[in-house]
Amino acid sequence: MLRVDRRKFVPEQAAHEAYVDAPVILKVGRDGRPSSTASQPTMVAVMLEQLGPKPGHRVLEVGTASGYNAALLSHLVGDGGHVVTIEIDRELATLAAGRLQHLHNIDVVVGDGRVGCATAAPFNGIIVTAGAPEVAPAWIDQLVPGGTLVVPITTADGHGQCITYERSGDELVELWRVPCGFVPLRGEDG
Ligand code: SAH
Repeated sequence: MLRVDRRKFVPEQAAHEAYVDAPVILKVGRDGRPSSTASQPTMVAVMLEQLGPKPGHRVLEVGTASGYNAALLSHLVGDGGHVVTIEIDRELATLAAGRLQHLHNIDVVVGDGRVGCATAAPFNGIIVTAGAPEVAPAWIDQLVPGGTLVVPITTADGHGQCITYERSGDELVELWRVPCGFVPLRGEDG
């Protein structure tokens, strides 16, 4: 986190919020609620610690938003590793891809992260950074045996539990959970 300057990942008008341990709102949806944020740094750190990416690992992130977490993942997996990050909002994905272009082990994909990224699978770890009502089957299929999934399972009002799972056979075994709040995962239709 000392190597990735969060200020470069938040909008200019929010520069004063860059080093505060709070989410920074990037976009507001039609319902007036945030549809994208740069997540709270403490939550980012907790989730990365749970994911446990190692040099050489292949990691999938769902919800690129600012690109900050993707940049951290890039450093953690190193030159021998690879990060695929998926964002459903094309405008945010384009902005993030610009901020991440100096990091050569990241692909930013525009699309629905619920289907993962079959062409780049399998992954050692999958980290979902938007609140999901349930685990999408692709996230299990696209993990290596013993791989780790970190996902905020979240009700419609935004309250949830960030759960760490390990793939065992074709099932997930829960390892840990912590309360959290995330913007909701959504489809192309909103
Ligand atoms: N990891 C980010 C924070 C993610 S905020 C960071 O470090 O800044 C959640 C993001 O998930 C939002 O930008 C939202 O647009 C995106 N999102 C919502 N539903 C999605 C989906 N189905 N597929 C991919 N991205 C999605």
